[in-house]
Amino acid sequence: MFELTVISGKGGTGKTSVAAALAALAQPVVLADADVDAPDFHLLASPQVQQTFEFVGGKRARVLTDRCCGCGRCAATCRFGALGEASGNGVVAMTYQVDPMACEGCGACVGACPAEAIVFEPVVNGERYISTTRFGPMSHARLYPGEENSGKLVGEVRREAQALAAQHDISLIITDGSPGIGCPVIASLTRTDHALIVAEPSLSGMHDALRVAGLARQMKVPVSLCINRCDVCPQATAQLEAAAVQEDLPLLAHIREDRAVVEAQQQAVSVIEYQLTPAAHDLRRLYAALTEVCGLAAGDAHEDCRTG
Ligand code: SF4
Ligand code: SF4
Repeated sequence: MFELTVISGKGGTGKTSVAAALAALAQPVVLADADVDAPDFHLLASPQVQQTFEFVGGKRARVLTDRCCGCGRCAATCRFGALGEASGNGVVAMTYQVDPMACEGCGACVGACPAEAIVFEPVVNGERYISTTRFGPMSHARLYPGEENSGKLVGEVRREAQALAAQHDISLIITDGSPGIGCPVIASLTRTDHALIVAEPSLSGMHDALRVAGLARQMKVPVSLCINRCDVCPQATAQLEAAAVQEDLPLLAHIREDRAVVEAQQQAVSVIEYQLTPAAHDLRRLYAALTEVCGLAAGDAHEDCRTG
């Protein structure tokens, strides 16, 4: 089993379009959407949800008003200002309550309460799904707005993808990773077999790509690069190429700007399934290069690329 994780230094580089194109070329594959804060792999994979699971990511405090004596020790203990005054309970004129949006789930208030009036309860932060797609099974999720623990949810999505691959005897998992370099992308990269960075040709795009490449290397994950929309700014593309050489970062492909990519998105398909346009041709070359770099079995796309 091999997991290829497609990442980017920031959002909006075309990471998901590249992941979907690779899935179309490599199928059958297991898809995993590890971008749980802003998932969009489903827009191109059109999953049919088969199973839904609640995601319990952490705990949150709640005051049992009947037991509260209004001493205020909880509010004095909470470093996040999540405890505020509330109306009386018939015994005391004022009680306290937790603002669920402000509670960070540290649990400090629970031990501070002399009346044992605070319970610490698991919170449902989102949902996780197992689906079928035309490329193969898919593991994906959605974090509710404002909720945290996305790193833990990414871990669950990836573990499910591995279970699906074993269950369906599929040797390749393509993971649409989280953007940036924060906790979710660390969770996306942990023990993956290869990270492909999708970069855009701009100064900030280059810095973001090099930063996430450094992170992947720190995590001992083999990493390579492709430049998306490479002809939009040839000068920036040349700078990225030079940086890749300097950083010894394998540059596997240039993907040309192509309206067909957007048109394909509007049709909810990958550009590979849409038309054999310049971007589709470049993505086939990328897939062929990946099969070599990652030691994967070359499929039809590899042959197409060799003859194209
Ligand atoms: S669990 Fe922590 S953050 Fe939440 S209310 Fe209690 S002290 Fe504040
Ligand atoms: S510490 Fe307990 S009893 Fe005191 S105000 Fe807070 S919840 Fe109420």
